[in-house]
Amino acid sequence: MLKRKIIIESCCLFFCLLSLLLLPYRVFSYDSSGDLKKYLSSLEEQFSRYGWKDINPREIPWEYYRTTKLKKPLMFVTFGNSSKNCILFLGGVHGDELPTVYLMFKLAHYVKENPALFKDKCIVIAPILNPDGFLSASPTRVNANGIDLNRNMPTKDWAAKAIRQWTAKGKLARYNPGTRPASEQETLFQIALIKRFKPQKILSAHSPLNFFDYDGPSSDLNSFEKWMEQICKESNHPLKKFGYYPGSLGNYAGHERNIFTLTLELPSSDYGQGRNYFEKFQPSILKFISLPIVGSPPNIRIINNYKSATGK
Ligand SMILES: [Zn+2]
Repeated sequence: MLKRKIIIESCCLFFCLLSLLLLPYRVFSYDSSGDLKKYLSSLEEQFSRYGWKDINPREIPWEYYRTTKLKKPLMFVTFGNSSKNCILFLGGVHGDELPTVYLMFKLAHYVKENPALFKDKCIVIAPILNPDGFLSASPTRVNANGIDLNRNMPTKDWAAKAIRQWTAKGKLARYNPGTRPASEQETLFQIALIKRFKPQKILSAHSPLNFFDYDGPSSDLNSFEKWMEQICKESNHPLKKFGYYPGSLGNYAGHERNIFTLTLELPSSDYGQGRNYFEKFQPSILKFISLPIVGSPPNIRIINNYKSATGK
């Protein structure tokens, strides 16, 4: 009897250890349809076409719960486990803005290799919001349904303005907001990330308009603006208050939900510039990660003034 008990306990221990060893690969065990494996292979092929040899999508422990129209996983990675201090990074919202995708994968590698960055916070990176657009034979801004994901967020002014403004500007296919708000899986994915992680800060990367833009809580928008002015000087990148559109992330997250939302518009959509852009904007990104925020919406604010926040 005792012998049998020892055998059972040994087996339990063995399987416990085995599951611990396999922990980093937990995503694959949920990937019963094989969608993620197929997707990572497609990404590898695309990355090698673009000469992005220093990023390897298989080295990051991705999670995903929903897929796009063309069955591409909407994946993200979480570093750290603080529930109070979360920063969300979004890339490839528009599928033809290629260096934004490189930037986010490179950032995921960098954060993974530097755990001190997420010791007391959580960093969530969703590197390709629009995989169908990114992987199409000729990459497109819009998703497989032809919708501009940055016009499809369910903002309060969507019903009154989104289709009306789009029509007034000539119904350009690139800016199609859809027939109703949050009609797209990719939109629901962004909403789910915001609901789950309750980020205090979001950085969304775009190209090629070449500026920083910001939206955020009216409780402390002035401090954010001053901090942004400093960051723009340091990174030699223009600041532009672009305003926000019905259905845009800046409107949904910054304006309506009081999240400090930074839009980084890279200077071009040239995939060959990815590495240069990472080098150029890495210091600003790291400062954004460490920018201290207190309170909860709507009374959220930056703790120190911009001078100490930027170390000057
Ligand atoms: Zn864009």
